[in-house]
Amino acid sequence: MKALIENIQHYCLHDGPGTRTTVFFKGCPLRCLWCSNPTTQRPTRELLQKADNCLACGLCARICPKGVVTQEPGKAPVIDRALCDDCGLCARDCPGKALVMAGTEYSVEEVFDILKGDMLFYRNSGGGVTFSGGEVLMQYGFAVELAERCRRLNINTAMETSGFGAYTHLRELAETMDHIFFDVKHLDAGAHQRLTGQPNDLILDNLRRLGREMGGRLALHLRLPLIPGMNDDPDHLERYGAFAAGLEGLADLELLPYHRLGKNKYDMLGRAYALGDVPPLAREAVAAAVGCVREHAGHVKVLCSA
Ligand code: SF4
Ligand code: SF4
Repeated sequence: MKALIENIQHYCLHDGPGTRTTVFFKGCPLRCLWCSNPTTQRPTRELLQKADNCLACGLCARICPKGVVTQEPGKAPVIDRALCDDCGLCARDCPGKALVMAGTEYSVEEVFDILKGDMLFYRNSGGGVTFSGGEVLMQYGFAVELAERCRRLNINTAMETSGFGAYTHLRELAETMDHIFFDVKHLDAGAHQRLTGQPNDLILDNLRRLGREMGGRLALHLRLPLIPGMNDDPDHLERYGAFAAGLEGLADLELLPYHRLGKNKYDMLGRAYALGDVPPLAREAVAAAVGCVREHAGHVKVLCSA
């Protein structure tokens, strides 16, 4: 079995206890406007351009079989993204590594070997592995098999998910997990559709059912990415707190304040960043949002990553 993986990142300190190795699966059914990992969205390999690395050698323009690369002398090439088919020929030969492909096919065995290499860090820190993306559910069969191997070696397992997928797949994956970080980005159906490109009814149903059935057997963490002007109004935050309070099997609720760290990835993909110049929330606004949620979350522990 093979999966398309965008990146395997070592020594991560988020998304689970201790020091972790995070596997970023490629492919996501959502298109959140603020996505900080746009290079994981498409379920296929795609060309990234790191213009600062360009040596202006002109090779890419000469070898592109589609003829979609133009270049002025001494400058980085311009790629017509609408016509580029991500064949990867230019990236294979680019001497400056200014053109690279996002997405590598791995077998379960290959990823597992990489994960095992960090065993000492897991043991010393109480850490483990985290599956992220993209959306892990899109390649759930691979993820289940990989997680089962990790569990056999007592490696702690965690996954991040939007919850947008078949419940049977989510449940099967959950059986192999110690932690699930479950994002619900907006409680209103219309707003969710507008902000992420998908409805939220399946996500909410999956979350409720997962909490009911698996809440005692794994740590289920609800997460709200806090996006200025999109889901941080007091009315939504109050309802969000109350929603969390009404869920079964929840370990805690975490607010993730918006940041702009993914912006350069849009540049590499030749895509516009939908949030333009929207600045991160001020510290006081984050504190007020946490207070608002906390007030309505009852017994649920409310955390904040900022
Ligand atoms: S092949 Fe690479 S280094 Fe040469 S011009 Fe193209 S992007 Fe720049
Ligand atoms: S990925 Fe292929 S089609 Fe796209 S610019 Fe490179 S060589 Fe041309």
